[in-house]
Amino acid sequence: MNAVPTVYLDHAATTPMVPAAIEAMTAHLGAVGNASSLHASGRRARRIVEESRETLAQALNCRPGEVVFTSGGTEADNLAIKGLYWSRRAGDPRRLRILATAVEHHAVLDPLEWLEEHEGAGINLLPVDGEGRLSPEGLRAAIETEPVSVAAITVMWANNEVGTVQPIEEVVRIAAEHGIPVHTDAVQAIGAVPVDFAASGVDALSVSGHKVGGPQGVGALVVRREVDLTALLHGGGQERDVRSGTLDVPAIAGFAAAVELAVKQQADLAARLSVLRERLVAGVRRAVPDVVLNGASAGSASGVDRLPGNVHLSFPGCEGDSLLMLLDARGIECSTGSACSAGVPQPSHVLLAMGRSAAEARSSLRFSLGHTSTEADVDAVVAAIAPCVERARAARA
Ligand code: PLP
Repeated sequence: MNAVPTVYLDHAATTPMVPAAIEAMTAHLGAVGNASSLHASGRRARRIVEESRETLAQALNCRPGEVVFTSGGTEADNLAIKGLYWSRRAGDPRRLRILATAVEHHAVLDPLEWLEEHEGAGINLLPVDGEGRLSPEGLRAAIETEPVSVAAITVMWANNEVGTVQPIEEVVRIAAEHGIPVHTDAVQAIGAVPVDFAASGVDALSVSGHKVGGPQGVGALVVRREVDLTALLHGGGQERDVRSGTLDVPAIAGFAAAVELAVKQQADLAARLSVLRERLVAGVRRAVPDVVLNGASAGSASGVDRLPGNVHLSFPGCEGDSLLMLLDARGIECSTGSACSAGVPQPSHVLLAMGRSAAEARSSLRFSLGHTSTEADVDAVVAAIAPCVERARAARA
């Protein structure tokens, strides 16, 4: 056992399950019943699924029939992007372009790349500014080069690395002028900033259970009933014929309980985490004066420019991975925020798109705060960061 209590500051990777979700999930683990079966056990399972669907619909302000359960955010993103592309192209073979920001998660970028390689799609990755924000005018210009060729637009609600919140309302407004469907990956936004599906006007929105205090391996694509999607998984057609597979009833119950609570507590949590975030940034700045804060500045009073729990920092002269391991040895868990390919640290595509050099990108760490975070967690980082930075710099010298 580790004698040092862990300081867990990687909530954007996954956050601990909340007691309400554990309770909802465990209540059903021992029960038998396939939600598609007609007998009493099946009907009981179906009832739990449909009640969960209603809970999610209330929390996200969509209709219950608009919730398509998936195995998580990655599947929801793949279903939205490939499903929209194929159905829109079937409606008009000229619709071959998909527009996205250059800072999307790999669960969006990789299906886009795949469609380009195998399905004749043209992908336009739109630039972002130095804070990681899409320019709505850039989007408009990209559409207007040839509006009829745009199959779909996908813009994440909030970035998982630097926490920048995107101007979704404006994206929807511009897309609507041309009748183009919009998908948003809201995996990092739910429970962190206000998200209202109906009011947002998006056509499809991805959610993941384990980012909001629910179980891993479950999520949903919320998709307007009027929107046609081509199915990716074929089989029993359990979810609106657009997604097949026996539903994971306990996980769905836990997922719904977590989203319900996360949405209910969003404003309070955001207020508490913003204070912790500012304490962390100020403390690290005192300890390491040349540290650079990446992403949007603290944000407006409503905290909508930046996720309240996100602190993304570059430490000049350090490798983020070394720093991560030095902090880990002291019981502090965080992330570089970017992918590691075959053990070789890759500079983050997000920071590169924001105009940073590869070295700057590789010198970064993401601390993400969540519902279990405390002042003591923040103070532990502030106490540990200067000696760790010193050692990481010495290692590179
Ligand atoms: N989209 C974003 C923005 C994410 O942060 C993540 C998780 O890292 C995903 C999608 C993938 O979600 P899941 O882990 O549920 O597949």
